[in-house]
This record gives sequence, structure tokens and C-alpha cells, in this order.
Amino acid sequence: MGEYANVAKIFGENVFNDTVMQERLPKKVYAKLKNVIKEGGELDLETADVIAHEMKEWAIEKGATHFTHWFQPLTGFTAEKHDSFITAPMPNGKVLMSFSGKELIKGESDASSFPSGGLRATFEARGYTAWDCTSPAFVRQDAAGATLCIPTAFCSYTGEALDQKTPLLRSMEAINKQALRLVRLFGNTTSNKVTPSVGAEQEYFMVDAEKFKKRKDLIYTARTLFGSMPAKGQEMDDHYFGVIRQRIAAFMKDANIELWKLGVSAKTQHNEVAPAQHELAPIYAEANVAADHNQIIMQTLKTVASRHGMKCLLHEKPFAGVNGSGKHNNWSLTTDDGINLLDPGKRPHENIQFLLTLSCIIKAVDIHAGLLRESASDPGNDHRLGANEAPPAIISIFLGEQLEDVVEQFVAKGNATHSLKGGTLDTGVKSIAGVSKDATDRNRTSPFAFTGNKFEFRMVGSRDSIAESTVVLNTIAAEAFDEACNELEKAEDFEQAVHDLVQRNFIEHRRVIFNGNGYAEEWIAEAERRGLPNITCMVDAVPELTRDINVNMFEKYGVFSKTELLSRQEVKYENYSKTINIEARAMVNIAAKQIIPAVISYTKTLADAVIAVKAAGVDLVSVQEELLRNISLELVEAQKALKELNRLGEEALKVPEGEARARYYHDMVTPAMANLRAPIDRLETMVDKNVWPMPSYGDLMFEV
Ligand code: ADP
Ligand code: MG
Repeated sequence: MGEYANVAKIFGENVFNDTVMQERLPKKVYAKLKNVIKEGGELDLETADVIAHEMKEWAIEKGATHFTHWFQPLTGFTAEKHDSFITAPMPNGKVLMSFSGKELIKGESDASSFPSGGLRATFEARGYTAWDCTSPAFVRQDAAGATLCIPTAFCSYTGEALDQKTPLLRSMEAINKQALRLVRLFGNTTSNKVTPSVGAEQEYFMVDAEKFKKRKDLIYTARTLFGSMPAKGQEMDDHYFGVIRQRIAAFMKDANIELWKLGVSAKTQHNEVAPAQHELAPIYAEANVAADHNQIIMQTLKTVASRHGMKCLLHEKPFAGVNGSGKHNNWSLTTDDGINLLDPGKRPHENIQFLLTLSCIIKAVDIHAGLLRESASDPGNDHRLGANEAPPAIISIFLGEQLEDVVEQFVAKGNATHSLKGGTLDTGVKSIAGVSKDATDRNRTSPFAFTGNKFEFRMVGSRDSIAESTVVLNTIAAEAFDEACNELEKAEDFEQAVHDLVQRNFIEHRRVIFNGNGYAEEWIAEAERRGLPNITCMVDAVPELTRDINVNMFEKYGVFSKTELLSRQEVKYENYSKTINIEARAMVNIAAKQIIPAVISYTKTLADAVIAVKAAGVDLVSVQEELLRNISLELVEAQKALKELNRLGEEALKVPEGEARARYYHDMVTPAMANLRAPIDRLETMVDKNVWPMPSYGDLMFEV
């Protein structure tokens, strides 16, 4: 604990980054690799052999004994298969440590144990992992020792994507191509590449590991399935507050050090709205690297938490009635010479390239609102979106006063003559005079908010991969840019044409702009009047993947084939059904084997007390008797709900797999889960705390 980290010294020390490559690779090899990183293409085996050798030598110096192709299958987590560097023992009894170019570039893995949505049958189980040299390899040090991790894409034998990375890389190519066309229109000849930048803010909860172990629901489903809210006011307890801070602070310090070593620029951290909830934000990076880094962050938070006797909960909704966790996707477009296409500059109304870019993104989000919503859907996020804490389930765009005013000027007259200014902040304190204000206030309720020089997509769930929403943002923007360029490249009067197009985009798609309170009841009705989709659950969102406009777009820009989309759809339905099935079974088990028996023993204590009171000659209805009666009534209700949930759980398995079964789980099983939870949560407030068989919400959240 006593040691302090020298960030500059340790940052990236376990990453095979550009500095290391320059140091260790022969000049020619380095140049070849850099070229592939920049332009794409294939590395010849000879070059790959040299890189692999140097990578291995470097990794061994860091203590690595194994290497792994590190990939992101559709489970939402990362997967890896460890191979040791050891080759066959030599005659002298020693072993050689080797790692070939072939092993670096390509891996073969049994794809049948990962979700594929019918893309391959188990008898054709071959899957390949392929090195993504645009995301640096790293050495991870943990209880398993040190492992060289090589970021890879994961595809089927026939080349279909089975992972998150492949479509992300494809979508980055698509947006690069179209965004370059767009900047060329404005006379830019210096930029050679446009890359989406992503900063993924990660929210999470921390609970004590010993308490976690006493909650079967957390163990099996990563969220609590029962639990009544603690008394209000407990959160104000300064003593608890102090204790939490020290323990969490020590954890954060260690997590930061681990992340810095892995080249992840963990920058800000703070407490979140809910007790025991925290957030970690890295500095933004290229989308692809940012997606890998977010996976590293999630893994690191978990392993470091364990070392500190805690558990890191990444689930979107670990506790009902308490704010859930999200992952904000901060997204922008940057050229290789450092221009941010979403930077409005000081005079946005005159920045026509920015306004075109903005109008295209507004159009893209309006047209593909359902798809964007889908990209943030997973079973856990169903508890968040639209529940007045996270953004609503309706996609809308917050622009802020200044830009909305520019849009309105354009709508009215095809150009804008001024931009609203921020002015100066008046604190009423003379000595703090002169703090300049942003031209726009923040809006916390918007799912897609313009925040100065980037958009912040706030729907993504805390556990989800950031890749999915990024793929959608990249592709829908690419399509809108493409359509704009097709029109403008052949315009005779470019100035006029671009103004007309910006005006038209604003007029046709301004319905998606909303600066008001997204949590208000009226917004739902207003959005409906505007014709904006309100997709309230995952099962309703998934069909967006295979709607014609989305399939056509993904195929056109080479991001997904229709087959891949169909398979992803299957994977999602399956994932939903499995998740609810596990939750329902866990509920039945916990209620039947832990809670109901505990309450029954308690009723025996009460019954004895009732007899004792009667024996003492008290003629009134005693407290004991009243309690016994009420608890018994709740028990009856709980038992009834339990049987019904059990029955529906069995029925669900008879429904054909896919959409039908997922819908059955959503429509029939989840309400039955709520029906079981209600009496049990009431019982928790009625029985002696000492007989309740698991830690309460209060214990979990306030006594970390
Ligand atoms: P805010 O206060 O709006 O949340 P921050 O500056 O704290 O903004 O940034 C939040 C996240 O957005 C961080 O991860 C940050 O790196 C990222 N970010 C900042 N600028 C950009 C950008 N141009 N593109 C993508 N992400 C960005
Ligand atoms: Mg933010």
C-alpha cells in the first residue's frame, strides 16, 4: 500500500507498442509492419517470423510463459486459449522456447463452443483467430502467471465473423472511405485517414466478496433477484461513507496501476449516483483499440477487486430500485493529421463542413434509430432503458441551445448568420469573476448528446461490448456521408448545393432532435407524435438487425452479410432465453431452498410466542399473532408464485427456439419472476433480520 506509482515510468510497460517495436525490430521489418498497420494488407511469413520471435523474447523478459490469441466472441466477454512457448524437449533434456510467425498470425480454435447462431454446425467446428496488428499485443500478469495476449479477430471456416472485432474493423474501413470523400469536397488534401475515436466510460458496483458469496443470485446471475430497499437515510451515514472510501480508493489505485501498465489510460474515476457505484473513464483512443481497452478494463476491475476481497459487479442492474450501470460511448471522427470532424469551432454557423457532417449524422440517427437502439440491447439493459434513470428507450439527439439555434436558422432560410455565445458565469462572488461558460448546458437525460466535439451515446449497458454500438455509428454515418458525397461531387454550384443539402437534412430529420427532459412522461407522447420508435425491450429490438434498410446498408458497406446478421439475431434470442431461464431457475431455487424454509422456521418461533402469550392470559390479538398471520399470507402467495414460475419455466423449453422462445420468456416468464419477487421482498421486511438467509441490500451497498 505504501508505494506510489510513477505513472510515466510504468505506463505501457507491458505493451508491445510502437516504441518497443522500433527498438527491437529490424528497420525493414518495422517499416513493413507499420505499413500494414496503416494501409492494411498481408504480412509475408518471413516478416511475421521475425516479429513473432522478437515479441516472444520481449514477452519472456516480462515473465511470460504462454501466449494466447485474445478474442471477443459473441458471449460479450473475451476468450483465450493458452499455449506455452515450450517446444519438444531437446536431446540434452532442456526445452526450446519458440513462437513462429504462423502462430502469431493465425490460430485455430474449436468454434463450436462459442455462439454462432447457426453459422456452423458442430461437425464443422473449425474457427480461426487472425492477428489484428492495429491493436498492440500485451503481457498480462495475474494469478495464472504472465501471458502474451495477441488481439485477434475470430471467424468461421467460411470467413463469417463470429466476434465483435471483425465487424468493427470493417466498419472503420467504411467510415474512413466515406469521410475522406467528404473532407476532400472541402479542399482537404492533407488528411489520409479518418478514424472513429471512442472513449468508453465504464460504470460498476463494488461489493464485499464474503457477502457476495452468500448471495446465490449474484453468483449465478450477476444481479440480485430478491431484495427490499434499505431504509432511506442509511446512505447519509458518514461513518460508513468513510470506510467505503478507503477500501475503494485502495482498489482504484491498484486497478489504475494495472491498467497503466497495459497502456490503458485510466484517467478519471469517481463515485456514481448509487451507493457503492463508481465510474472509470479512459482517455479516448481509436475505436478498435478503445474496444480492446474496454475489455481489458472490465477484466482488470474484476481481478483487482478479488485481490482486495471485493467483487466488481458489471451487470447493468445489480439492484432493483437503485440506479443501474451504463457504458457511455463517446464517439468522434478524427483525421490522421489531427482534425476532429465534430469540432464546431468558435463560429459553428460558418463552419459548413461541420454543419454538413452534423446534418448527416442527424439524418443517420433518425433513419436508423431502431438499429442504434438495438446495438445497446442486452438482457441486463432491459432493466435500465426507459426506467427513468438511464436514457429513455427512445432515440433522440441533444444538440444544445447553440447548435439547435443554428439548425433552426438553417431550416428557416438555408443558412445561419450567428451563433449564440456562452457568456460569463456569474457566481455572485467577486473573487471568482470571469469564468467563461460553455455555449451549451449539459443534458443528462438524452441518449445521444452532442458534448462539445463528440457525441455521447449513453444507452450502452455496462457489461456490453462497446464494439456493437460503434459498428452501428460508424456504418450509419458512412452511409449518410456516402449519400451526401454522391450528390455534392456532381453539383455545379458546390456552395449552393451544400447549403441546400444541409437545410434539407435538417428539415427532414429535425424530428429526432430533442433538448428537453427525456425522463418526462410527455416526451413519450411527443415522440410518438413525431413518429420516433420507442422500443422498450431487447426482444422487440432484435428484429431491427434484419430489417431491409439495415441489411442493405450493412451489405453495401461490407460490414455484415445477411447471413451474419441472421446468425447474430439467433445468438441474441438465444442469449436472452438462456439468461432469463437461468434467472428464473435461480429464483425458484433460492426461494424454495433458502428463503421459504427460513421463513417457515421463523413462523414456528412466532407460533410458540403466540401460545406463550395466550397462556399468559392475554385476550387481545397479540403482535406475534398478527405477524404470524401476515407472514403466513405472504408465504401462501410466494408458494403460489413459485409454482407458477416453475411451470412457466418448463413450458418455455417446449417453445421453439429463437424469437418465439425469447418472446415467451419476455412475455410470460419475466412477469412471473416479478410475481415471486414481490411477496418475498415484503417478507424480508417482516421477518427477523437474523433469520433472513442472505445479506440485505443495505449490507451489500453500504457496508462495503
Ligand atoms: P464529459 O465531461 O462530457 O463526460 P470528458 O472529457 O470527461 O467529458 O470525457 C468523457 C470521455 O469522453 C472520456 O473517455 C474522454 O476520453 C472521451 N472523449 C473526449 N474527447 C473525445 C473525442 N473527441 N472523441 C471521443 N471521445 C472523447
Ligand atoms: Mg460523460
